[in-house]
Amino acid sequence: MSEVINYDSECLFCNIIKGDIPSTKVYEDELCYAFRDIAPQAPVHVLVVPKKHIPSLDAVAPEDGALVTHILAVIPGIAAAEGLQNGYRVVSNIGPDGGQTVPHLHFHIIGGTSLAGRMA
Ligand code: 5GP
Ligand code: ZN
Repeated sequence: MSEVINYDSECLFCNIIKGDIPSTKVYEDELCYAFRDIAPQAPVHVLVVPKKHIPSLDAVAPEDGALVTHILAVIPGIAAAEGLQNGYRVVSNIGPDGGQTVPHLHFHIIGGTSLAGRMA
């Protein structure tokens, strides 16, 4: 059971962080929670979310800067623990046109195979 800041009872990921909806945890600290995606798009597909409910990267406020930096700083350790020594992709979809389906900020860590296509 984790404390969710700005808890939104309607939010799937807030309920996952709280432990009310089960998930497969791969990492947790006081600020963030990481768990396996239920529909993996690659051999490794982990979602990293802040424990604070923030709807998306587009809603990040200046006071959230340290929180977002913290999440970016823990991603390499999660990737290493998942065996992604040869590289991986980090994605955060934003809004309907960005393909976001869960409105709680999350970073996808995708890897474990050579990923098709370039995104930039
Ligand atoms: P988005 O489409 O918003 O960028 O990413 C949402 C992700 O959450 C999707 O990859 C989807 O498979 C994953 N997802 C949706 N519902 C659940 C769930 O109940 N549990 C887990 N572990 N992942 C979920
Ligand atoms: Zn939420």
